[in-house]
Amino acid sequence: MKTSIIAVGTELLFGQTVNTNATYLSKNLNLMGFDVMYHFVVGDNPARLREKIGQAYEDTDLVILTGGLGPTQDDLTKEMVADYFGAEMYFDERAADEIRAFYASRGGKMPENNLKQAYLPEGCTPLYNASGTAPGFAYEKNGKVVMCFPGPPRELKWLFENGGRQYLEQFMDKKMYYKVIRTIGRGESDLEMDLMPLIDGQTDPTIATYAKEGECTIRIASQRDTIEEARAAVDEMILKVNELIGEYIYSYDDEELDEVVVRLLKEKHLKITSAESATAGLFASSIAEVPGASESLRYAYVTYSNEAKIALGVPAETIDTYGVVSPQTAEAMALAAKAASGADMAISVTGFAGPEADEGHEAGEAHIGYAFGDKSGSVPVFTHRNFRNWNRNYFRLRMLRTAYQLLTAE
Ligand code: ATP
Ligand code: MG
Repeated sequence: MKTSIIAVGTELLFGQTVNTNATYLSKNLNLMGFDVMYHFVVGDNPARLREKIGQAYEDTDLVILTGGLGPTQDDLTKEMVADYFGAEMYFDERAADEIRAFYASRGGKMPENNLKQAYLPEGCTPLYNASGTAPGFAYEKNGKVVMCFPGPPRELKWLFENGGRQYLEQFMDKKMYYKVIRTIGRGESDLEMDLMPLIDGQTDPTIATYAKEGECTIRIASQRDTIEEARAAVDEMILKVNELIGEYIYSYDDEELDEVVVRLLKEKHLKITSAESATAGLFASSIAEVPGASESLRYAYVTYSNEAKIALGVPAETIDTYGVVSPQTAEAMALAAKAASGADMAISVTGFAGPEADEGHEAGEAHIGYAFGDKSGSVPVFTHRNFRNWNRNYFRLRMLRTAYQLLTAE
């Protein structure tokens, strides 16, 4: 279905509010297979709003409006929809009860003008809004649909998920299935090149890559007559994707890297520990965030100073001979943490966060140490000349990735 989105509100035109509602709606409608063709923004001006509703209704089959459903004088979206279709407004008793109940539940007195929100265009399907006061609605005419949602993003999301989506499902002619693959260790443009033989000329399933800090996700989606057909097409495509870039994939199920690491640790009944200098506990805290991590993480060390490293068991001569930021110290930290905690594997990091160079080292130089079974060593992380920001998430991901690689190498 060809779709338009109209966001209503002068504050959007002034640039005071970012039009996040359009992004949210676009994402969700596209995922459902609606073909979003236009985004419009209109101020709180009745004539221009009515004109835009008419234009969108002429050009597309589904028009979604957000904003301007509230109780104030400048909230005119419903009135303009009704006006365009020549529908009367009626007083919806259930909406009125819910508005009264909403105020009663908060122990407040309802301002009388709030009942304005209970008026809806005759012949519409109301979408009752338990997350706020203004109900939304859908109005269908000649096989085309106009839907109105409240402007506050939280209410929009609530009503879209609790009524809007269900209403729209009747217009989905195809069934959609998708999977999100997570990769690490290769940039988005390289991945896209790798996948080009699959992406090129491919209309279904579609393959889309999205870059996030240090990571890349790939969404594989198919729309077919039945969900089984769509799933089979996606599964078949995943096999092909796996042949091309399998070595970079860490999840076929949209999991976070820390979740995968904790899952693997649990499966293998292994305990992990860390000794962190520059990241001061970032690795340990991201492991601890995963529910059930306590089985795998019993000790973790923040060894910010040389004294702390030595107290943990790093030989002073290693630091003296090679420097505190060195592959040797990183490895020694991992070994010391593993010995002190009795864990099966240890990850460490030592580095210069900058911004100034330190002891003759470039800011940004860091080393991740590891100790696992009788293996130990270290990997250099970053020796960027113009390193300005100590990128926390980047380091967190690199440590997680090292842990992940050790776990999957077993
Ligand atoms: P209310 O009952 O709160 O008046 P409403 O449906 O009339 O709801 P608006 O008055 O248009 O909605 O907007 C309410 C608030 O929601 C605004 O202050 C604005 O910050 C936010 N908002 C409105 N439209 C958008 C949008 N398109 N994207 C993001 N935020 C929005
Ligand atoms: Mg308003």
